[in-house]
Amino acid sequence: MKITRNQKREAELMARIQPGRLEGVHLTAVLGCLRKAQYDLTAPKPVTDRMKLYWLCGNSFQDSFLERNDQCLEIKIDTKYGQKTIVCTPDSIEERAEFKSVRTSIRGHIKEDYFRQMIMYCICIGLDEFNLDQLHIASPYFKIKDAPPYVPDDEKAPVLLCYHITEITEDDKQEVWDYVETRGQMLFEAVEEGYPAPKDEGWQCKECQYFIDCELCEGDF
Ligand code: SF4
Repeated sequence: MKITRNQKREAELMARIQPGRLEGVHLTAVLGCLRKAQYDLTAPKPVTDRMKLYWLCGNSFQDSFLERNDQCLEIKIDTKYGQKTIVCTPDSIEERAEFKSVRTSIRGHIKEDYFRQMIMYCICIGLDEFNLDQLHIASPYFKIKDAPPYVPDDEKAPVLLCYHITEITEDDKQEVWDYVETRGQMLFEAVEEGYPAPKDEGWQCKECQYFIDCELCEGDF
């Protein structure tokens, strides 16, 4: 018997992983790095293979639980260049749920942008509660200290943590709306005027397909 690595097949399988990207500007793009969102709109490049594999984990997680939601919600914001649209698709409107697969530690805080995303969904749908179902695909590679009791005492297993976000007030909604509107205006205006949108350097940079372009790009706010 002979076993060899089949890189041709690896490439074929990788080519089958498609992002299923929405047309237009997505809410997650506005909440993430605006510079990256600008590149996606004006000079898109294919994502890295590793990023595709992360997508695969996330999509498989979501597909294990429910049919994909194809209802696209629209957020209209006013900019110097007229009204613009930001689109979003909650994973399940019926279950009021968003699924996330993350690489972060279960000890870490939930990303604030996830709460903002849920609150924007609530604004669009007219709700004041939402579920955030978060799969930590390989997070706790270290000893868990001060962990809440629902965290299993296991250092390497994936962990599913579900959060029910309730008591969302009108003030919470207004604050998030203003935040999204301001960031949307910054993005659309940077695209229209052709200057680089602000960077949000952080966790996204590691797998960013625009890393070199971004490093070489002169000019920032
Ligand atoms: S490298 Fe980082 S800062 Fe630059 S565009 Fe990508 S995510 Fe944004």
